[in-house]
Amino acid sequence: NSTKKPPPNPSPLRTAKFFQANMRILVTGGAGFIGSHLVDRLMQNEKNEVIVVDNYFTGSKDNLKQWIGHPRFELIRHDVTETLLVEVDQIYHLACPASPIFYKYNPVKTIKTNVIGTLNMLGLAKRVGARILLTSTSEVYGDPLVHPQDESYWGNVNPIGVRSCYDEGKRVAETLMFDYHRQHGIEIRIARIFNTYGPRMNIDDGRVVDGLIRLMEGNSTGPINIGNPGEFTMLELAENVKELINPEVKIIHVENTPDDPRQRKPVITKAKEELGWEPTITLREGLPRMEEDFRKRLGIPRSA
Ligand code: NAD
Ligand code: UDP
Repeated sequence: NSTKKPPPNPSPLRTAKFFQANMRILVTGGAGFIGSHLVDRLMQNEKNEVIVVDNYFTGSKDNLKQWIGHPRFELIRHDVTETLLVEVDQIYHLACPASPIFYKYNPVKTIKTNVIGTLNMLGLAKRVGARILLTSTSEVYGDPLVHPQDESYWGNVNPIGVRSCYDEGKRVAETLMFDYHRQHGIEIRIARIFNTYGPRMNIDDGRVVDGLIRLMEGNSTGPINIGNPGEFTMLELAENVKELINPEVKIIHVENTPDDPRQRKPVITKAKEELGWEPTITLREGLPRMEEDFRKRLGIPRSA
């Protein structure tokens, strides 16, 4: 199995660490929504030391406040488009703005983060012999011409649109991952995450994070879809919000943004079979939890 091939030149540091119980884990973008939940999970294991690098573009130190000062935790302000020198065994590479408002804000920076950032993390993985996991996205399928989407679908992405900095950026990031794997024997893992919501946002009670850890620890390179196959239209979503959260709320129809995918639904057979992973929270269970968290953070009491 080529995924188990050792890197060509394991560094002495890596070889030395091999005999220690502790796992030193780098999480890029660890101050963000998914990253901070991942850090919570990783820190629960006393054998793990966790290093987070983040430039705080969309993330916040507040998401990690429970770990600041912990002896097994380190937080570094750093932009992944710059070279990074740390010694680690595993890299969870999440750094990248994930929501359209933010990734369209500075599209050139988004491309740099996806391409140069991933190149740097792969260079780091190569130097220290670390295994690296990329959080890719369902956006690599673009506005899909097949439905639902399994991992063998190549996608339908506009290369020159306003979303391309993110969609094509992630596609190149996946390409880089596989090229480093084939050319340098780097151990890679790729998750294609579908839209995730919840408190902080609470992401399916941390289920997405479980999926990422299972992928990192397992033998499959991926790509593997991580998402909820429960499908609903935007109107159904709005009607659910109206019914569950505020019946007074008015639904307003607006123009779609350019290149927005019209319909998407993951096939998660691979995640079920290879990772033993599947989502457990339905939309109707998840929405009230998210409402609760938003109310807390915005200081809006339930009666308001
Ligand atoms: P997020 O915006 O909350 O987190 C991203 C983090 O990366 C933030 O803390 C941000 O400050 C940091 N960051 C951005 N650019 C950086 C840079 N150049 N250098 C260092 N840090 C940088 O987003 P999220 O929802 O937690 O997404 C995490 C990852 O998962 C992303 O790679 C995203 O593409 C992927 N993903 C998320 C979803 C989703 O629904 N949330 C879906 C598909 C894929
Ligand atoms: N890199 C890094 N940290 C490291 C090793 C490499 O950030 O510990 C960066 C390095 O700056 C380079 C990129 O990763 O731009 C790719 O490194 P690689 O060794 O694969 O390519 P090369 O440096 O030979 O072009």
